[in-house]
Amino acid sequence: MNRNTPMNSFDQATNLVHDALTGLSETAAPLPRASRASLERLITAKAAPAPSRPANEASTTSSATDTKAERLEQLRQRILPCEKCPQLVASRSHVVFGVGNPEAELMFVGEAPGADEDLQGEPFVGKAGQLLTKIIEAMGFSRSDVYIANVLKCRPDMPAGESGNRKPRPDEMATCLPHLIQQIEIIQPKCIVALGATAMEGLLGQPVVMREVRGRWHSFKNIPLMATYHPAYLLRNQSLSEKRKVWEDMLQVMEKLGCPISAKQRGYFLPK
Ligand code: URA
Repeated sequence: MNRNTPMNSFDQATNLVHDALTGLSETAAPLPRASRASLERLITAKAAPAPSRPANEASTTSSATDTKAERLEQLRQRILPCEKCPQLVASRSHVVFGVGNPEAELMFVGEAPGADEDLQGEPFVGKAGQLLTKIIEAMGFSRSDVYIANVLKCRPDMPAGESGNRKPRPDEMATCLPHLIQQIEIIQPKCIVALGATAMEGLLGQPVVMREVRGRWHSFKNIPLMATYHPAYLLRNQSLSEKRKVWEDMLQVMEKLGCPISAKQRGYFLPK
């Protein structure tokens, strides 16, 4: 069941236009053409007073003076009713928008909600999420200092009777990516950490080989992007050397953000 609130028809229309323009700006599609008569009708419509909104109804469109928190909330309201992937709509409990500080300098991006996240409506709350929280705290932050989101906002559906998670498909990630891009455009983090190969693939739009991209700086929309292993990989592979690799990636992130790094922090997961 989709438990998200419906929007009024004006907001739905605005969202359609907004999504279409965002889609155009994300692709190399030619700019839309309009006849002189259509442009004149648009100008007349623009000059007319905007339809008023009932006082008890939240705005889903942004104005220049809105704070990042307000703009994120408006975006969340626009995304919650998304029905672009019918197979995901049919199986989801929640659209998992993202969580954390709208003013965050550091943003973590995972692949897609798992079963726990789908039920709770929050990213990274299951076992892998608990490990991510520990990594964030070892860096000297709390979950509420950073921002956490996924490339895909809905849990990938599983065949009837099957448990576990499936990898999001490239078409699903491409459909959902504009939502993440809008989150990033609002938050404007100083750096982004991609958790795992699928998150990297979703961001870059092409498959990656983790041992080639991990531990190096990349760029996403001109924001430094660090690729590291997904915490679920560390849960499967408990070796000190793999933990150290992720930690070295986080040390690079802390350096990029200008965070103080103690000797104790530098030494985590080094063999004694
Ligand atoms: N794995 C992810 O990539 N995202 C989550 O939110 C949870 C697990």
